[in-house]
Amino acid sequence: MVRNPFDLSGKVAIVTGSNTGLGQSMAVGLAQAGADIVGVARREQLETEQKVSATGRRFHSILADVSQMTSIDSIINGSVERFSKIDILVNNAGIIRRNDALDFSEQDWDEVMDINIKSLFFLSQAFARQIIVQGTQGNIINIASMLSFQGGIRVPSYTASKSALMGLTRAMANEWAAHGINVNGIAPGYMSTNNTAALREDGERYQEILNRIPAGRWGTSEDISGPAVFLASEASRYINGFILAVDGGWLAR
Ligand code: NAP
Repeated sequence: MVRNPFDLSGKVAIVTGSNTGLGQSMAVGLAQAGADIVGVARREQLETEQKVSATGRRFHSILADVSQMTSIDSIINGSVERFSKIDILVNNAGIIRRNDALDFSEQDWDEVMDINIKSLFFLSQAFARQIIVQGTQGNIINIASMLSFQGGIRVPSYTASKSALMGLTRAMANEWAAHGINVNGIAPGYMSTNNTAALREDGERYQEILNRIPAGRWGTSEDISGPAVFLASEASRYINGFILAVDGGWLAR
């Protein structure tokens, strides 16, 4: 029988920041494609658990703050203890801080960089080491941003972290492709989640952004789950170090 290249049956996917927004949607999308899910979050995630369970796949919750280096091993070890192996890592957890560059604080710099790029690297490193021990193939998906490509306004540490994420995605892809680990990213456009709540509350800015999106609407969390399935699957086996924009055409303007 010919296997559907998008089928994730028998795979185990770790998704960080899975309690809400894009993370929850990707966890459910990967489960719909057949994967069991390890959801990593700072708080209880009953809604995600219910949605994943409704697909018939298994869900394991790990409560962890990814900014703490001590969390890294517990996430990987906890996943392997529960499911015996891991196959997919979605580095989705991320934060944003908004302020004028002239007034931007060291704390707002450090907190964003710690979560958006430092923890992403060390979790990816621990994941890659486990894949090599397993002797299997792996897929890492890093959640980037339009600000991996553009400068943005009033979000200097976010832009720095998401631009670094693009370079790091390529760097990790270069070193780990030989081990059968594909490292890629998804750059969401403007999506209606907590991350963009402040932007959407500013009516003028909301409209300005909307006017520039060729698709004529802001994105939804569900817009990300198909691309995540693709980059987690055999269908993308020869794609390495690439950031896929899911932006309704924003970057094409
Ligand atoms: P969101 O609803 O704010 O989701 C962020 C997730 O990250 C939440 O689950 C959050 O948990 C988790 N998180 C933050 N810090 C964490 C930590 N230290 N440890 C564990 N989990 C942590 O916003 P979202 O839009 O879905 O964001 C998901 C990703 O997409 C982020 O990387 C964001 O930068 C990126 N993104 C979003 C957009 C957009 O338009 N929405 C565009 C480009 C990129 P809590 O609920 O506990 O805070």
